[in-house]
Amino acid sequence: MQYLSSKYLRIYCDGGELNRLEKLETISKIPYVQKYLHVCIYKPFNCGYCQKCRRTLLALDALNVLDSFRESFDIDYYNSHRQEYYNWIWGQHMNGDLQNEPVYQILSQRNDFHVSNNYKIKQRIVFFAKNHFSDRQKQLIKKMVKK
Ligand SMILES: [Zn+2]
Repeated sequence: MQYLSSKYLRIYCDGGELNRLEKLETISKIPYVQKYLHVCIYKPFNCGYCQKCRRTLLALDALNVLDSFRESFDIDYYNSHRQEYYNWIWGQHMNGDLQNEPVYQILSQRNDFHVSNNYKIKQRIVFFAKNHFSDRQKQLIKKMVKK
């Protein structure tokens, strides 16, 4: 990427043939990355809650490298709220999200992978509403499901 490079700094694009999980697997072995990886789009630290933080934490979990990222993410919070993260990635899977599918395929094979029935019911109502109701009806259903 010559237009971004200078005499002393060369920037290049690499890994286009890899999916997100494969890219993360490649860089996750680098100690500097383990310490300073920043993916959050809202905070100057990794909040652990936004979509980018969630999918990265789940990917690190799928790669079995969570403990290597204790300096860049709150791994204890992730571990104590793992059920909510599993619910979320299951929802991504049910929505047909292909970007997180490789991570879902790994995590869903684990013995501890579980999605709460309450979450499944709420998501099924939302999926059904997407296909069968007007925008106004969808808004009302979303409000009801959040309660
Ligand atoms: Zn974040």
